[in-house]
Amino acid sequence: MAGLSKRILSLVRDDVAALSPYDPNFTPCKINLSANENTYGMPPKVRAAIDAAIAATPTNRYPDPMSNELRDQIATWHHVRRENVCVGNGGDELLFNFFLAFGGPGKRLVDCPPTFTVYDIYSKMLGTSVVRCWRDEETFDIDVNALLLMARKADMVIVTSPNNPTGNVMAPEDVARLCETCPGIVLVDEAYIEFADGGCSCEGLLADYDNLVILHTYSKAFCLAGVRVGYVLAASDVIDVLGAVRQPYTADVFAQAAAQAVTSLRGVFTPTINRIRSERARLAEALSGLEGMQVWPSQGNFLLARMPEAAIVRARLRDERSILVRDFSSTQGLENCLRITVGTPEENDELVAAIGSILREVV
Ligand SMILES: *Cc1c(COP(=O)(O)O)cnc(C)c1O
Repeated sequence: MAGLSKRILSLVRDDVAALSPYDPNFTPCKINLSANENTYGMPPKVRAAIDAAIAATPTNRYPDPMSNELRDQIATWHHVRRENVCVGNGGDELLFNFFLAFGGPGKRLVDCPPTFTVYDIYSKMLGTSVVRCWRDEETFDIDVNALLLMARKADMVIVTSPNNPTGNVMAPEDVARLCETCPGIVLVDEAYIEFADGGCSCEGLLADYDNLVILHTYSKAFCLAGVRVGYVLAASDVIDVLGAVRQPYTADVFAQAAAQAVTSLRGVFTPTINRIRSERARLAEALSGLEGMQVWPSQGNFLLARMPEAAIVRARLRDERSILVRDFSSTQGLENCLRITVGTPEENDELVAAIGSILREVV
């Protein structure tokens, strides 16, 4: 952090002083395609169920600390038991708790950049050392053999599948090998799994590997980014450890009620998810048709696109068109890349037209 006073510098740990706050660089815009939310919004039928559930929820009592009703619903959904589920205040909190439980000084994390930057922030915060298995510069695929070698000495491995921001998945067979090789815990961050082709999830491996942790969230496909609910699936002793480090009431009564309503009605999201998948293909094709543009295939609800002068394009989209996308152009390995959330057909059309005309001017 820049500009800390001498007094504050003398009070905080050196590793904390070296941190910077997570800043997604948000600016309010007419079209927000920057944070991989579901831009189609909550289906009205589900919204009505959430509103009714919230209206019936008293606020004077503490929430169920373990969110047991929600855990039971999630367990039924994913064919595991309540003991295999931990609910958190968004996936981010569960990731933090994962670092709190299994990371720290003397512990080693292996991750596969370019990927979600939150892992780096939490490892710094908790003094965990990080070994990086860089993805292929062209395809962003993971070199599985290199990863397996590194995993032999890891306390924790995180694989993001589909990966944010590159959109590709790691095959469950490869994750199985990873779980066999790694003496530590393997976390597969599946925040975007609902948008991926069938068979991409590593859930099916849980029965075979007691060192596997799967992270899911209600923030992306299920339109609850503003409410903050996520969950992990893992062996019961891993869940016990995560339960021990967690703060008691992070899933508040409204969040539990909303997540329960969404879980009961999750089938209602299927048409929107399919729509996002078909829009993803249409948007990828339209962007690829622009001069100088490279777009990677994606299993998430976003596309990674490389173009000339990406930082300028991004600033002009925001300032002249009120369209916000995420700039990765100064991230190592993602030079001149922007990440674009797949929006509604109208949003996507407006974006493609805007990028097209800006690119014609800048190149
Ligand atoms: C969005 C995201 C999460 C979790 O988001 P929450 O809103 O905290 O549930 C986790 N991992 C990745 C890779 C994400 O993109």
